[in-house]
Amino acid sequence: MANYLSWNYQEPNNKYQLTLLHSFLLEIQSSHSSDVRDGALFALISFLLIFILAASGRVQMGFVVPGFPTPLRRSRKKILSEYFPFYKNLPSDQQKVFGQRVQAIILSKTFYGRGVKVDEVMRVLISACAVQLTFGLPKIMLSHFTRIIIYPNDYYSTINKQYHKGEINPRLKAIVLSWHHFLDGYVKKNDGINLGLHEMAHALHLENIISNDEYNFLDQGALAQWRKAASEEMMRINSDPSHLFRSYASVNEHEFFAIAVENFFERSEQFNAQLPHLYHLMTLILRQNPLSNSL
Ligand SMILES: [Zn+2]
Repeated sequence: MANYLSWNYQEPNNKYQLTLLHSFLLEIQSSHSSDVRDGALFALISFLLIFILAASGRVQMGFVVPGFPTPLRRSRKKILSEYFPFYKNLPSDQQKVFGQRVQAIILSKTFYGRGVKVDEVMRVLISACAVQLTFGLPKIMLSHFTRIIIYPNDYYSTINKQYHKGEINPRLKAIVLSWHHFLDGYVKKNDGINLGLHEMAHALHLENIISNDEYNFLDQGALAQWRKAASEEMMRINSDPSHLFRSYASVNEHEFFAIAVENFFERSEQFNAQLPHLYHLMTLILRQNPLSNSL
């Protein structure tokens, strides 16, 4: 029997469909088991059935087959079209790729709600945020971070006795977000503050140096130049209260990168006008340019 029993399905309805399909195939198989040719035919039909269902988005495979990306189901596309401007502004062929990447992220992470029930809008928009940041790069899944933890609002950390809006926790392999502040980041489009992009940027920055299947994928030359330019700019932030970047960017290189990412997407024109060298380096690192919509 094909090994699709081990596939993971997220939606109860799909699980039900799969069970029915599985019983159906078992029945066919038992009635043909004495005939080798029919066995081969059965295997072919099984594969085609599964492939057609997966390709149509009706069954969500728990893994991504290279070369056969799983399309985003219609209800999820609707969420992106309604709430995610980055997706809305893409040409249709790029929307398709974006959707496949969102689907791949959704399937590769486990979403946990802390005091909030995780729903489809959360799954889609948080995954879309990760794809927005990585869309110019080869398919980066932020694979070290297998858990997305969602709080309804800011949450109290018993470790440092402070309220947090979000964080990444490499030890727990988790990206943690306040849903209220995540949404706020996208509602207020041009203030250079976007919690989702900020935390995803931390995750991306770390993913690049964590030794796993997604290691060292950022342009090392651009990154080296960026580090030099960033350290100079961090000193200017300290002495310039009207700097484009908020003062928190001067804390360290990681915060500077996360805040640069927020401004890269939300205040691209000002960023390019005021800090053209850094902006250019960001386009090389992320391999996309919000000002030209080029990838
Ligand atoms: Zn941060």
